[in-house]
Amino acid sequence: MDDSYLREFEAEVVEASENLVVLDQTAFHPVGGGLPSDTGFLIGAGGVRARVEDVYKDRETGKVVHVLDRSTFRAGDRVRGVLNWERRYRVMRMHTALHILIAVLNSRYGVLVTGNKVGVERSRVDVNLERPDRRLVMEAIEEANKIAARGVDLKIYYLPREEAMKIPGIVKLAKALPPAVERLRIVEIPGVDIQADGGPHVANTSEVGRIVFLKLENKGRNNRRIHFTLEP
Ligand SMILES: [Zn+2]
Repeated sequence: MDDSYLREFEAEVVEASENLVVLDQTAFHPVGGGLPSDTGFLIGAGGVRARVEDVYKDRETGKVVHVLDRSTFRAGDRVRGVLNWERRYRVMRMHTALHILIAVLNSRYGVLVTGNKVGVERSRVDVNLERPDRRLVMEAIEEANKIAARGVDLKIYYLPREEAMKIPGIVKLAKALPPAVERLRIVEIPGVDIQADGGPHVANTSEVGRIVFLKLENKGRNNRRIHFTLEP
């Protein structure tokens, strides 16, 4: 939440059941908010290690659960968490790219975004468009690339919910209302976008590189799906 670049950390196992582990603190981002789960390793005493294959937030308890490839750890164990950084960094770049693209679609073209999914290889955004206007999409991506190349520093901070909700466009994704918490995490790309958001981002838009259009897909009436990737 506070340092997207934290790729290793120390923690204590507070719950362990078979291959499912809850830590007292974690840098692993769980699947959700349109983002895939981080992967990586947990390394214990004597170098014993387990692969973190999936991470999710338990719906009932809100705890972050690490799904390991083996049952290795017990409550009380000290572990070192190591993120698969190549994967995470790619997701961070994709995520910031998505915010810029959505901001452009929304502010420049008045296009409403109805869904999105960030992937490691490719990402997608669903938009409310009457016709499959490929040219508009290509233009928007070009504009997003220009913004990314400007090298804007992102700002991440917290605001009381009431204050945050007064900011126009703080929730650009129809349906995606922020969770009912007192303090909202705000991700701001100054002059471009401001969102209530829980996911990891790059520090500067230049890290995004170039967004590459893949295809435009029809997903029912007024609904188009834009697929894009990033240059490596
Ligand atoms: Zn986001």
